[in-house]
Amino acid sequence: MYAFEYHRPTTVADAVSLLQGASEAKLLAGGHTLIPTLKQRLAQPSDLVDLRGIGELKGIREEGDRLVIGATTTHAEVAASEVVKRAIPALASLAEHIGDAQVRNCGTIGGSIANNDPAADYPAAIIGLNATVKTNQREIAADDFFTGMFETALGDAEIIVSVSFPKPTKAGYVKFPNPASRYAIVGVMVAQTGGQTRVAVTGAAPSVFRLPDFEQALAGNFAASALDGLSVPSADLNSDIHASAEYRAHLVKVMAKRAVAAAGG
Ligand SMILES: Cc1cc2nc3c(=O)[nH]c(=O)nc-3n(C[C@H](O)[C@H](O)[C@H](O)COP(=O)(O)OP(=O)(O)OC[C@H]3O[C@@H](n4cnc5c(N)ncnc54)[C@H](O)[C@@H]3O)c2cc1C
Repeated sequence: MYAFEYHRPTTVADAVSLLQGASEAKLLAGGHTLIPTLKQRLAQPSDLVDLRGIGELKGIREEGDRLVIGATTTHAEVAASEVVKRAIPALASLAEHIGDAQVRNCGTIGGSIANNDPAADYPAAIIGLNATVKTNQREIAADDFFTGMFETALGDAEIIVSVSFPKPTKAGYVKFPNPASRYAIVGVMVAQTGGQTRVAVTGAAPSVFRLPDFEQALAGNFAASALDGLSVPSADLNSDIHASAEYRAHLVKVMAKRAVAAAGG
């Protein structure tokens, strides 16, 4: 049924060699996006390189004022981690509300951000918390990572190794979930980190984006009421069977205010 070679390397270096040696290899993490894609024949890779046997891609640790999460760490592991709950509770809460238990037990942070689904939750955390994505080749700043719908700055044979989050002083994430999948129809991460305020929106447009006027208002007064006079233009927002662009624009402001409240503002 599927004509590919399956590989399970134990080091990143071996995974890179396998990618470089195959005509059209794909990385496999939790498989919750890739396997349905294969089933629908939307991808027909020559080789599947399973990352789950690679120890250096796993785990959660603190490094000074940063929280580092390995690429194959599952959403369930992030949600349950006492380290994440203490350092960035908004991130643990975000992971806890992804999909259902099966999705959370298989899906990984690396797979989620490499896929860059417009409705995925983690992109809002990467941008809102100003994280750094570490690959086998380089470090990529949050604002440079997501380049378009299902598109990222990752090159060929480039593997996400970990994501490093600076610990914020305040952070909150709230989404309006699709009632079937729990993907974000709109999700907003609001954070203050090192004196900088960020507001990142997922679900509303082809890719995650920031709201500079919301950020400016919250920098002066970190309170939900600071957003009262602002609105979000609907012109570039998604419109589909779940929500019109106008409704999404309305939801962005409502979710942003709730995220500020969740962050203690
Ligand atoms: C029913 C359902 C409900 C869901 N609900 C939500 C939701 O509410 N919120 C949400 O955010 N997500 C949701 N998801 C998505 C899910 O959480 C996973 O994050 C997502 O499927 C991708 O992660 P994965 O580990 O399964 O990646 P895979 O499917 O294994 O891989 C996805 C892509 O990323 C690439 N990749 C994987 N790991 C790496 C790496 N380390 N470096 C470079 N490239 C890599 C793969 O080659 C592939 O192209 C849902 C999925 C399903 C099936």
